[in-house]
Amino acid sequence: MIRRRTLVTSALPYVNNVPHLGNIVGSVLSADCYARYCRARGDEVLFIGGTDEYGTATETKAREDGCECAELCDRYHVVHRDTYTWFDIAFDAFGRTPTARHTEICHSVFEDLSANGHIQEKTIEQPYSPALGKFLADRYLVGTCPKCGASDARGDQCDACGGLTSPAELRDLRCRETGCIPEFRSTKHLYLDLPRLTPALSSLHGRNGPEGGWSANAMNITQAWMRTGLNARCITRDLTWGVPVPRIGFEGKVFYVWFDAPLGYVSITAVARPDCWRDWWCGEGARDVELVQFMGKDNVLFHTVLSPAAMLGTGRPWTVPSGVSATEHLTFEGDKFSKSKAVGMTGPEARSSGIPADVWRYYLISIRPEHGDSDFRWADMVLRVNSELVANLGNLVNRVMHLSQRYFHLAKVPEFLDAPPLSDDETTAIETLCQKVDEKTGTYRRAMDGRGLREGLRMVMSLSADTNKFLQSTSPWAVHKRDPIAATYLVAVALSAVRIIKEIARPFMPNFARTVSSQMGEEPERSAEFPHDVSLRQARFTGGHALGPPPVAIFQTLAL
Ligand code: ZN
Repeated sequence: MIRRRTLVTSALPYVNNVPHLGNIVGSVLSADCYARYCRARGDEVLFIGGTDEYGTATETKAREDGCECAELCDRYHVVHRDTYTWFDIAFDAFGRTPTARHTEICHSVFEDLSANGHIQEKTIEQPYSPALGKFLADRYLVGTCPKCGASDARGDQCDACGGLTSPAELRDLRCRETGCIPEFRSTKHLYLDLPRLTPALSSLHGRNGPEGGWSANAMNITQAWMRTGLNARCITRDLTWGVPVPRIGFEGKVFYVWFDAPLGYVSITAVARPDCWRDWWCGEGARDVELVQFMGKDNVLFHTVLSPAAMLGTGRPWTVPSGVSATEHLTFEGDKFSKSKAVGMTGPEARSSGIPADVWRYYLISIRPEHGDSDFRWADMVLRVNSELVANLGNLVNRVMHLSQRYFHLAKVPEFLDAPPLSDDETTAIETLCQKVDEKTGTYRRAMDGRGLREGLRMVMSLSADTNKFLQSTSPWAVHKRDPIAATYLVAVALSAVRIIKEIARPFMPNFARTVSSQMGEEPERSAEFPHDVSLRQARFTGGHALGPPPVAIFQTLAL
C-alpha cells in the first residue's frame, strides 16, 4: 500500500511577542491535532513550525528593549518553543528563519523569478529621515488615518479601524521614533509581477481549493483578492534585519518579510532534514506530497496568493498548498486579545495556571473559531471541564477501569470466544453500542479528513456519553450478583469502547490517551495496528491481556 505523505505547517508566529491562546488555537494547536490524526491514519507526516524573525517589528522591539535583533530573537524563540512543548505540540521540526539555509533558499527562489522575468525594478518616492540618515519603513511612520481620523495610524495599517494604509495617504506624517517630519526621496525597489502570475494562480485556486477542501474563509479571502485584480507587489525593504537582496544597486536592502517568511517552512525543513527536504518541497520525490497549512485568517493572503505566486513563478515543481485551514478570531471574555490593554491570556500564563495542557487543548479545540469568531470564557471553560471532561469522559474511564480491575481475574482480560447467555435487553444494548461506534467513528473520520476538528472532538465526547449510557442501562455491578460471567462480558464490551475512545481522543488529548493506555496495560503511544475504523468487536483485547496497575482519576474538577 502506498502511504499518503502529508506535510503539515502551522503559521510561523512573529517572534517579538509571547503567543496568546488565540495564536495557539489558530495555528499551532490545530495543526498539531491534524498532524496527529494523519499519523494515526497511517500517513507519513512531517509537521513543521518555527518562528518568523526578520523585519521591522523585530528591529523596533530590539531598540525598545535596548538589545541586538539576534539577541531578542534568541530569547523569544525559546519562549515560543517552550510554550509549544508544554502544550504537547509534536513538531517534527521547530526552527527559525535567520539561518544560512534560509538566505540560500530565498536567493534561489529570487534568482529563478528574476530569470523568468517576474521581477520588476521601480523607483518610488519614499519617506526618508534626515535625522536617522535612512529610509523609513512603513511601520516607523505615524500619521492621521484618512479613513477614520485616528491620529496614531501606522504607515502600513491603522489599528483603530483595521484599514491598510500607505505613508503617502496619512496626514501629518511623522517618524515614530524621532517625531520629525520625513522628506520624500527617490529610491529603487523590486516588485513581484503578480498580474503576470495571475493565470497560474487562478488555476491553482480552481483546482486545489475545492479538491483540498480549503476552509470557506480561506476560499473567500483568496477569491476577493483575485477578483479585485492583483498589482505588482513590493518585495524589498530598507532594513538591515532581513535576507539581503542579491542584486547590484540593492545593497542595504532586504527582502520584505512576506517574501521570506513563507519560505521559512522550506528552510526549517532543510535545516532539520538536510538529506531529504527536497522530497517534501521540490522535485520528483515531492510530487505526491499533500501540503496542508494552518493559519489565522489574517495570514491567508500570504499562503494562498503571494507565496504560491512566487513558487509558481520559479518554474520549478515546488510544493504548493493542497489544503488550507484558516481560523476566524478568538476573543477573550468578549474582547480582542491585547497585550497593551491586558486582555487575554498567554501560553506561559496557561502553563502556570496549574491546569494540565490536555484540558487547555480540549477547551480550545471545543471553541476553535472554525466557522466564525468565538469567545474564550472562564466560566464556560469551568463548566465544560466539569460537565464534559470530568463527568462524562473521565468518569467513564474511571468506572470501566475500576470494574475491569474488580471483575477480571488477576486484572487479566478474560477470553470470550462467544458471548455468554445474555438477556434481550443486554444483547440490544451491545448491538446499539456497536452501531454507535461505527456511526460515530465514521463521522469522526470524515470530519477530521476535512479538518473539522470541533466535530471530531464532539464525536469523541458523544461516543463517551453513549458508552456511559450503555453502562447505566446494563448495570454490570447489579448483574454481577447473579451472573458474574455476563457482568464480566459487559465490562469487557465497555473496555473495548474505551479503547476506541482514547484512540480517537489522542489527537486532541495526547496525554489522556497515554494515561489510559498505561491503565490498560498498553504502550503509552499509539500502536500502528489500531486504525480508527475498527469495530467494537475488533477493538477487543485478546484473552489474557494484563491491565496496568489500579487506575487513578485523570481529570480534576475546576473551580471558578
Ligand atoms: Zn483608521
